[in-house]
Amino acid sequence: MGEIADPAALITRLDEAHGELAATSATERLAMLARAVELWDDSGRIGRAAGEIATATGYAPAMVALCLRRTFAAHRAPALADLLADALAPSDRPLARTADLRSSPASEIRRRATAPALVVAILAQNTPGLAIAPALQALALGSAVVLKPASGEPHFALRLAESLGEADPRLGAACAVVTWKGGRDAIEETILAAASRVVVYGSAPTIASIRERVGERAIAFGPRVSLAVVARAGAGFPGDVAARLARDVAFLDQRGCLSPQAVLVERGVDREALGRALGAELAALEREWPRRRLDASSAASFRRAADEAESEAIAGRVVAFHGGGPEPWAVVVEENPALRATPLDRFVRLHPFAGACGLRDALGPLAGSIECVGLDADEPARSELEEASREAGATRICPLGAMQDPPASWHSGGRLPLSALLQWSVGESAIGSDPATTARQTAVDLRERFARFLAPTSESPRAIEVVRARGAYVFGRDGAYLDLLAGIGVAAIGHAHPDVTAAIARQAVLHAHVMVYGEDVLAPQVDLAERLASHLPAGLSSTYLTSSGAEAIEGALKLVRKATGRARVLAFEGAYHGDTTGALALGGNPFYREPFRPLLGPVEHLPWNDASALERIDRGVAGVFVEPVQAEAGVRIPDAGFLPALARRCREVGALVVYDEVVTGLGRTGRWFALEHWPDAEPDVLVLAKALGGGLPLGAFVASPELTRVLARDPPLGHITTFGGNPVSCAAALATLDVLERERLPERAAEAGRRWLARLGDLIGTGRLVGARGLGLLIGLDLASPEATRDFVQRCLERRVLLGWTLHDDTVVRLAPPLNVTDGELEEALAAIRASLG
Ligand code: PLP
Repeated sequence: MGEIADPAALITRLDEAHGELAATSATERLAMLARAVELWDDSGRIGRAAGEIATATGYAPAMVALCLRRTFAAHRAPALADLLADALAPSDRPLARTADLRSSPASEIRRRATAPALVVAILAQNTPGLAIAPALQALALGSAVVLKPASGEPHFALRLAESLGEADPRLGAACAVVTWKGGRDAIEETILAAASRVVVYGSAPTIASIRERVGERAIAFGPRVSLAVVARAGAGFPGDVAARLARDVAFLDQRGCLSPQAVLVERGVDREALGRALGAELAALEREWPRRRLDASSAASFRRAADEAESEAIAGRVVAFHGGGPEPWAVVVEENPALRATPLDRFVRLHPFAGACGLRDALGPLAGSIECVGLDADEPARSELEEASREAGATRICPLGAMQDPPASWHSGGRLPLSALLQWSVGESAIGSDPATTARQTAVDLRERFARFLAPTSESPRAIEVVRARGAYVFGRDGAYLDLLAGIGVAAIGHAHPDVTAAIARQAVLHAHVMVYGEDVLAPQVDLAERLASHLPAGLSSTYLTSSGAEAIEGALKLVRKATGRARVLAFEGAYHGDTTGALALGGNPFYREPFRPLLGPVEHLPWNDASALERIDRGVAGVFVEPVQAEAGVRIPDAGFLPALARRCREVGALVVYDEVVTGLGRTGRWFALEHWPDAEPDVLVLAKALGGGLPLGAFVASPELTRVLARDPPLGHITTFGGNPVSCAAALATLDVLERERLPERAAEAGRRWLARLGDLIGTGRLVGARGLGLLIGLDLASPEATRDFVQRCLERRVLLGWTLHDDTVVRLAPPLNVTDGELEEALAAIRASLG
């Protein structure tokens, strides 16, 4: 163990070990693990581990030993086999996403689940034995495991790994214990990138930082609350109840997962008597499980809080306070039913409540963070209180005194045990001795049907079998890919942004298509057009909504012709404006135009970025179509004076300027629209699509009201569309604009693009990279030859990074990730690019 020098080599090693382990049958793996757990029956081993942990953490050795023993017991055969029974019969249908996972019954999840290749467990807490569940459950599934122990307690994970190796070398090889510095260093990034599932036990900030990088691959266990509910004062009250309660409280505290540790006591039950007895029991337990010492500042704040509680008791604001000693337990008997945060975990507060309704009210604010409710009640109250606890999200309800038993399912993310969450892993090969699983058969079948029933666009489609896409990742059946193309510019705010999916759902319920574009007053269309105008120069305030970029180009073509009464249209060499016949006629690559002649005419192409050629724009020209930055031509950025010169020339001859910002619009180049880079070259017409619909089909052309009006008369209905501005797409677009605004993504694109381009620039000379240029997060990499480009793209794909060469220049690779791509994702991309070049 220790800082690993070469994380990539570790991953390769684990990959091989995984291959070997996954080739064994589940029965065999369970037998190996049973041997490993049996090794711990030797109490010397547990005692030694408990001693190490106790020394490192200050926990009582007896409590640690108990905790280890119980956690191992929960993972002993046949309990482990039970936990994972459903994994033996995985089904072919992975879940669409974690949201589905949470709303599906556990049985359904297991039915659809598959086993992950690599599980990384980050144990950012000192809870004794925390490594047991993720390690044993993952290995039982046939997954390789990386354990990163808490910095304060590195021993146990190491001992566990040793015992696994002793039981069977294959287990030992498939389980690595490593450390790396917290944060985003390269080791962490490499390991996290390779992980199929990342199990994180830690504080909210730790979880947030991991989630940010691994998204839905994270299974997180954060700080959770355990509560006791006492609703009877039968025989043995209060001594018996207090004794059981005290062990729960003391034990849970020792495990480091204490929360408010509130005790809710039914009105009518003598709280004061219970509080007194609990104080005495806790003091007695000190002998068995001595408390770890508080550091000086915690001890001081404990004493302050204890003084306060005591004076509250004297002043009658709480019923009573029981405690003693220099760092005692503190038991406060509350008057108030509302749960109070305790200053330190050694405070236990007893609150009154009245019936199931009262319990519901008390638990309400804790919904979603309740781990366990220990319940002491007689029927029928017991059932009602159980129901109220469950409604509040309690994952485990047990009798008082049993809260300390950690069943295997103690590791649960919300409703689901760790085993179910681990098994859910899209695209991973399924566990089982027969490799020809249904999952694979289905994959083959789908590919065949893809080839058979879908009209192709080329001989060699990328053909990732997409299961879902989220943020910067596309999840194929074979695992996750980092999408540096953002679905060719569409996923500017990432794939399936939750705000967008929510907006789609809301609008779809209200109405989708009602009437062809332009007839009825549909709020999403109006709101969207107004919002676009708010980000555009005053001259661009009237929006015609379409369904795609090419359709918007066609509309703009008709608009410039009708508005000027002229026919000739100009565009630029290298341009791409879409593939309908009008848009194709504007396309600047004869290779794609020739087979489809005759196309729309008359159309001429001017050389790109050549101000002297602008002379050819004359009084017969209706409009000039231009991408402010040519994307498919190889990310070609014009000289500063080119677009202003174009605008001036068009004004002189009365031709209209049409900016095709299908790619560059909506933040891509570091401004809301690329036109902002050249303020003295404002276009007459602006064409948008791609990112606009947030993933749904939507395009637009925008001009002045005087201009767009020409399409409404002579003849009326001279330019109409059924689906243009579909209300559901418009709702998605509005949500997209919200995200772009709220997260200031154009600025983010400018800043991240600058930084990234500098890093990419440093790679020039590596392999066959000869150049890099870009504006915002639209970046082009020049490679030495078409073969070098193809090679590079293929190697990136093998490293699970999606990018591609541009349509009209096969030596340029375009990078255009989502604008909210994280720094960690950009680092991941950079590492893959560097490796692929090398
Ligand atoms: N204009 C540009 C600059 C494009 O890149 C594209 C598509 O890639 C289009 C227009 C056509 O858009 P669509 O594919 O939505 O028809």
